[in-house]
This record gives sequence, structure tokens and C-alpha cells, in this order.
Amino acid sequence: DWVDVVDVINSTVERCRKVFPDRAIEVQLAPDLPLIRGDSVLLGQVLFNLIDNADKYGGAEPIRIYARRDGDELALSVVDMGKGIPEKELEQVFEKFFRRGKPDGRAPGTGLGLPIARGFVEAMGGTIKAESPAQKRKGTRMILRFPIEDMPVEAETIS
Ligand code: ATP
Ligand code: MG
Repeated sequence: DWVDVVDVINSTVERCRKVFPDRAIEVQLAPDLPLIRGDSVLLGQVLFNLIDNADKYGGAEPIRIYARRDGDELALSVVDMGKGIPEKELEQVFEKFFRRGKPDGRAPGTGLGLPIARGFVEAMGGTIKAESPAQKRKGTRMILRFPIEDMPVEAETIS
């Protein structure tokens, strides 16, 4: 199926503003974003999980969501300004049940959000990775990339 990323972002952010009423979410979308292949429900779940994480681990500043075209890919990112993730754990956070830090005193969760998100993104032909500025340890950026394919011209419209 073809997915309108703008629709998915807007509806998911609307839902998140109700679930996390105290959290500012800012959205910056490039104009004329192409459709991607995949499933709107899965992409909405992924975004919801990333915003949930940014809310839980992301500090007090607003969560920012960006989408733009980058060559033949659509790049989508969810950015927070929390304490970030140390470099050696940037890949581990995508492992099942991996949770950072000591069990006592951390936000509730099961450590499945990111592995599931990666599974959904890969099922759509995309990739997801985490970045955290190495020196300042300020904030986390979750970056998703999806291939942009040409929309096939329907046979009926030709004949
Ligand atoms: P669940 O999503 O299943 O409720 P969870 O949030 O702990 O639980 P994941 O979403 O898979 O599980 O995240 C794994 C771990 O990665 C988290 O426990 C947290 O330590 C770390 N993490 C995830 N997102 C961020 C973020 N935005 N900033 C800092 N750490 C993060
Ligand atoms: Mg989570």
C-alpha cells in the first residue's frame, strides 16, 4: 500500500498530544513529500513508540519531528533534548528487553518498543537508527529512512 507520511505524522501527533498533554511536540514537514510503500497503521505505531520514548526519556524540552526528502529516500526523525544514549548502547537499545540503567527508579516499560519499531520499519523496506551527539550527550535523534519508489501508472489510465 501507499502511505502518506504527512497524514500519519499529523494523526499520530494529534493522538500523542492527548496522551501526553504536558509535552510540546513540534512538527516540521518539507513541502511535497512523496508517498512511500508500507502500512499506515505500522508507521503510526512506530511513531507513537518513538514519541512515547522521547516523552519518557527526553527531558523537558519539546519533541521535534522532521520529514524531508533526501535523494531517493524519505528521511523522518524524532528528536528530543534529553540525556541521550551513550555511543556503545546506540545499537543495543534495539535489542529485545534491553533497558538502560538500573532497574530501580527508571520509567516503566518492557524494552520492546524499539525492537518492534525496527521490525515494522524493516517490513516497510526502511531503516531506523539512533544518534546521540557524542561530546555533549545532549538529546537523542531517531532517524528513519524509507526508499522512494515511482508510483506505477495504472493500466486503465493509459488505455
Ligand atoms: P517499552 O517501549 O516496551 O514500553 P522501553 O521504552 O524501555 O519499554 P524501548 O522503547 O525498546 O523500551 O527502549 C529501550 C531503552 O532505550 C529504554 O529503556 C531507554 O533506556 C532507551 N531509550 C529509548 N529511547 C530513548 C530516548 N529517546 N532517550 C534516551 N534513552 C532512550
Ligand atoms: Mg519505549
